[in-house]
Amino acid sequence: MKLFAKKSAGKKKALFLDRDGVINMDKPGKYILSEKDISFYPSAIDALKTISRKKDYVLIIITNQSAVGRKMMTLKKSKEINRYVINELKKNGIYVSALYFCPHSPQEKCLCRKPAAGMIEEALRDFDIDLSKSWLAGDKKSDMDMAKKAGLKSIFVRTGQASKELREKRVNYDFSVRDLRGLMRII
Ligand SMILES: [Mg+2]
Ligand SMILES: [Zn+2]
Repeated sequence: MKLFAKKSAGKKKALFLDRDGVINMDKPGKYILSEKDISFYPSAIDALKTISRKKDYVLIIITNQSAVGRKMMTLKKSKEINRYVINELKKNGIYVSALYFCPHSPQEKCLCRKPAAGMIEEALRDFDIDLSKSWLAGDKKSDMDMAKKAGLKSIFVRTGQASKELREKRVNYDFSVRDLRGLMRII
């Protein structure tokens, strides 16, 4: 589902970003259900500010929000939280071009819930993206698997749920960084 997409002409390099655990803090088993649950990683703000200023990427957020499908939060609330995140980032000089989210529960078997690549496919319809020069950063195996399916280079960010993921799953990625600041050495 699309929250918004500020389209711009021409072929773009994209940096796809997972939200929870990458931009804002996230703990296993705890859902983000209100704006109050959002606290940004200072390292993420730092990194995205620099990337926004110095690098020629469109920033696109791709986020699973199954709390909607699980009836823990309304669709309206999920949109409000996403808008809040976008606005807070904007206050810090970080301009996000689009946000796509999956509101479904795993049982709904939709085509957008990560690791499915539906949200990337939607972005590819909205933007002329040069996949060979684009990246995806996330803290879960499902992010890395989606990146691979979509033909994006993946960066595993070891914040949020990363340590739990590494303990429990076999996670394959192209690069791994301690936090989003590590992106500056790669992209
Ligand atoms: Mg995450
Ligand atoms: Zn979905």
